[in-house]
Amino acid sequence: MSRISAIDSRPPVLGPSPSGTPEGCELLGLPPAAFIERVRDAGGGELHARKLLRRLYRANEAERRAGVETLAAGIPGLPNRLLARLRDWRAETPRVARRQVSAADPGTVKLLLESADGATFETVLFRNRRAAGRWSLCVSTQAGCRMACPFCATGRAGLKRNLTAAEIAGQLLVAREEVPAGERIANVVAMGMGEPLDNLPATLDAIEVLNSSDCLGVAADRIVISTCGHVPGLERLARHPVPVGLAVSLHASTDALRDRLVPLNRRYPLARLLATLKRHPLKTGKWICFEYILLKGVNDSDRDAAALGPLLEGLRALVQIIPYNPIEGAGFEPPTAAGAREFAARVRDSGVPVALRRSRGPDIDAACGQLRAADSAPD
Ligand code: SAH
Repeated sequence: MSRISAIDSRPPVLGPSPSGTPEGCELLGLPPAAFIERVRDAGGGELHARKLLRRLYRANEAERRAGVETLAAGIPGLPNRLLARLRDWRAETPRVARRQVSAADPGTVKLLLESADGATFETVLFRNRRAAGRWSLCVSTQAGCRMACPFCATGRAGLKRNLTAAEIAGQLLVAREEVPAGERIANVVAMGMGEPLDNLPATLDAIEVLNSSDCLGVAADRIVISTCGHVPGLERLARHPVPVGLAVSLHASTDALRDRLVPLNRRYPLARLLATLKRHPLKTGKWICFEYILLKGVNDSDRDAAALGPLLEGLRALVQIIPYNPIEGAGFEPPTAAGAREFAARVRDSGVPVALRRSRGPDIDAACGQLRAADSAPD
């Protein structure tokens, strides 16, 4: 316990987080209903809007860079008034400032993206091992993070700003360029930089864009939002029309320990978090994934393992153990492989299903908690 007692014990400040300003004329990231509204205002109809939407999201990066007007040129029957407005509209994705492919695992690619205002954030692409031709994308929702979990590199530099919905959903458009023809990004997890529910409006819009068949067409249950326990955000997410999957960073089974490992716990303690999750609408056959980072000597005792089953009783829960990926200067140690397996077995004995996650891409700092923008200046 001593090694984490020095951590700042103030509860996180949770005023509005600084937002990126979505350009008035940016089309990417607009939920379909808002997009249709915009096209209507410009003199087009719903059918025109849907055709334009499909063209925008099916185009590749080079085609999109040619401009919205050029993209629309191939769509017959667009009214002149609408065509005239297209000149002012944009569909811009962040530029790739750096691209790293894991030498140990060529199916893992990390991209450092940079927006026009210089904000940088990372997106990580993984080839699925079990489903041929399918990839998963781990997206960032904020440039930085203000949750200050002491074991995570992203939180070190604090929050620069929220990403816009265009920047969140746009990560798929950029990453898609890495995927061979005939293969596709089938899963999107918001487990990159940032706390998705601390950037709620943009995250909710991005979910719609990711899911809509006119836009990116990712199945709702293949989109997963991971949160460190932002209760108001969870309540809002529960009312969102797209039933996405949920992952919750649990990491401890008592408030005393969780207060230190996940500072947001001081604002939304375990009892309140778990009560909120019990009310969360889950589709039949679905469960909530509880992530549990394993830190040697901190949260890996037999008692910690035994507490998890009773704590999660009444929830359709799966515990996912993530052995700690070392972050320089954080002062934690990873468990041994045998220690992690042993812990997982004890969690299972406590009455809850468990999986042990093997992190991919540690050689390029692409594993959980290793994403950061500060040191990732373009080469
Ligand atoms: N803010 C969200 C999503 C971002 S992190 C959340 O907290 O859920 C995705 C997962 O990686 C979280 O479970 C996070 O706690 C975990 N993680 C962070 N740093 C890590 C590290 N150094 N080693 C292993 N997992 C880490």
